[in-house]
Amino acid sequence: MESIGVLMACPMSTYLEQELSKRFKLFKFWNFPQKDAFFKENALSIRAVVGNATAGADSALIDSLPSLEIVSSFSVGLDKIDLAKCKEKGIRVTNTPDVLTEDVADLAIGLILTTLRGICACDRYVRAGLWKTKGDFKLTTKFTGKTVGIIGLGRIGLAVAKRAEAFTCPISYYSRTEKPDLKYKYYPSVLELASNCDILVVACPLTAETRHIVNREVINALGPKGLLINIGRGPHVDEAELVSALVEGRLGGAGLDVYENEPEVPEKLFALDNVVLLPHVGSGTVETRNAMADLVVGNLEAHFLKKPLLTPVV
Ligand code: NAP
Repeated sequence: MESIGVLMACPMSTYLEQELSKRFKLFKFWNFPQKDAFFKENALSIRAVVGNATAGADSALIDSLPSLEIVSSFSVGLDKIDLAKCKEKGIRVTNTPDVLTEDVADLAIGLILTTLRGICACDRYVRAGLWKTKGDFKLTTKFTGKTVGIIGLGRIGLAVAKRAEAFTCPISYYSRTEKPDLKYKYYPSVLELASNCDILVVACPLTAETRHIVNREVINALGPKGLLINIGRGPHVDEAELVSALVEGRLGGAGLDVYENEPEVPEKLFALDNVVLLPHVGSGTVETRNAMADLVVGNLEAHFLKKPLLTPVV
């Protein structure tokens, strides 16, 4: 397999780079600033693309690679891959489901607790010496027992629900289809879900349908005591509306792992203590990223050995 060209779309994991280099002819796209010259020289030998949540395989890249057979994504989300084009051209697509579910759900709960209990603001208070000079920190908001609404009750949404149940939180959800086997309350629209929960967690895939699924109306329905947690994708939320709602006090708080134009984060949020900002680290533990890398490599090996793919999407 050493002669098979594999193109990594952007830097994502040193371990993955090492494992791919051991087996394939690895091209690191970011090392080739002259893209036209790169394609002219190497396009025909590249049979696989490895992408992630930052860069995948869009229509232009697919068109530039006539020998492309498979796109193996180092992510569960497929929003950076032109799935329709892959289907049309018979290009296989794989992702990394399940292995990252627990980490992302853990982080969602972490965001809820840090935002409601002001954990980051408390830490800044102590480090700045303000405990000594200004006295006790202001009171914060209780998590246990709050109603948690989840948009997209899939693998990650369900793992968030299980964790929130341990905090005795009533759980409700919105997705395209009701899950009759689950005991959680279903709302047939995001607006109804937001109107009936204290904490709204975004955990659905990013598609044309879910872009700005959290809009001004939804934010207003969540209200001045409501908390928005986004561990899905940035464009799920109308960010300009989110910022103005937080600045104007129409929304109680937000815990965000993802943003509309990463790594750009609206600077107006930096001054707000009711907001916790993370740099898209939902699956970012050593253990999980290595497990994701093993799945990417396993899928590529299976494909080129003509065995069944481990986690096929297309
Ligand atoms: P999943 O198991 O496929 O679950 C997705 C859920 O969303 C399903 O229950 C689906 O239910 C629902 N859904 C799909 N389209 C919808 C729509 N138009 N409106 C409302 N609900 C919809 O996926 P997962 O493994 O839980 O991952 C979910 C997403 O999390 C990924 O796509 C990714 O974007 C994001 N993620 C983020 C990070 C991070 O680092 N922050 C890490 C991993 C994943 P129905 O089919 O019934 O609608």
